[in-house]
Amino acid sequence: MTNTSMNTQPQPKPWILGIHAYTPGKSKASDGRALVKLSANENPLGTSPAALEALEAARGEAATYPDPGAIALREALGGLHGLDPARIVCGTGSDELLNLAAQGFAGPGDEVVFARHSFAVYDIAARRCGANPVEVADRDYTADIDALLGAVGDATRVVFLANPNNPTGTWLPPAEVERLHAGLPAHVLLVVDEAYGEYVDPAHQRAAFELAGRHDNVLVTRTFSKIYGLAAERVGWAYGATGLVDVLNRIRGPFNVTASGQAAGIAALSDQSFVERSRAHNSAERARLAEAIAALGNHGLRAVPSEANFLLVLFEGELKAETALEALAGEGYAVRHLPGQGLPHGLRITIGKSADMDRVIACLRRLCGEAA
Ligand SMILES: *Cc1c(COP(=O)(O)O)cnc(C)c1O
Repeated sequence: MTNTSMNTQPQPKPWILGIHAYTPGKSKASDGRALVKLSANENPLGTSPAALEALEAARGEAATYPDPGAIALREALGGLHGLDPARIVCGTGSDELLNLAAQGFAGPGDEVVFARHSFAVYDIAARRCGANPVEVADRDYTADIDALLGAVGDATRVVFLANPNNPTGTWLPPAEVERLHAGLPAHVLLVVDEAYGEYVDPAHQRAAFELAGRHDNVLVTRTFSKIYGLAAERVGWAYGATGLVDVLNRIRGPFNVTASGQAAGIAALSDQSFVERSRAHNSAERARLAEAIAALGNHGLRAVPSEANFLLVLFEGELKAETALEALAGEGYAVRHLPGQGLPHGLRITIGKSADMDRVIACLRRLCGEAA
């Protein structure tokens, strides 16, 4: 039996020591050379000029605190999406909101459920509040609704679903998400993480909002980091019942979104033509990369079907993912290898500029011994 008063240094909570810190995407080779970053799912078209202008204008206001309630940003989000701003809460990236959702509704002894090969933050968010992460087997890199429901028990408080999913890119249609929700007890919070929501077919983009509008236990998160090209500003938002939003408002940082982030977010929302250009570029280049990978199928390469701004390429033949990772770095490209997430045989490649995609495809073809 240890007497805690005898400790010679502060003792972290044991569940904190169980956390493996998030590993960000690389932008440098092992020798320090700068690489084109296709490892963090950023927008290769950059940022809307309107948002850049707003960032510039916000520079003069560094001495004053931002609006703690992000009122204008929430109103702009509500206006664009037809949502009640009172049901929206903004965060320091959606990352903060995912953590707050776990912290607000789960604690020591509780369980937080999510699919295998899903977003690394869910495990961290569960452990941060002392809850037990429950990782559920997926099916061919896609969340398995029946398996997720089978893992929900008396201790379950929160279920995370990334849709589209990261790092696989797979997407579940609205009927499947509804089936997941319908199988959950009313006291279990379903968090639908739509960081890539703007990349899916516009016909399906409102489905999760509508689910969250009808039920008190659904929270949808979105971000300005991906299609809006504002990852550096750290702005995310969540939509759900006022009871959920109230909990997140109690525990979020009081000034959790910077003034420049709020201003840039509002301007970015006003430039939907940038969003449409980004989506169109992504669909075209993603299809081209997928086709090139399919043509290398006889070499054991396979792309997981993706609705996001990246492709998970599996190397199931002679050519190993590590070899391709090194070769791509040699060509100047950083892509994401995720052996720690059970994907030693895969590379997640962000859809970049067309010329960069040409070179990535040529490199993979060469590695397979095909004419580049
Ligand atoms: C990128 C990403 C996020 C967003 O992170 P931010 O904190 O908003 O930058 C959230 N969920 C998933 C699945 C992601 O891939």
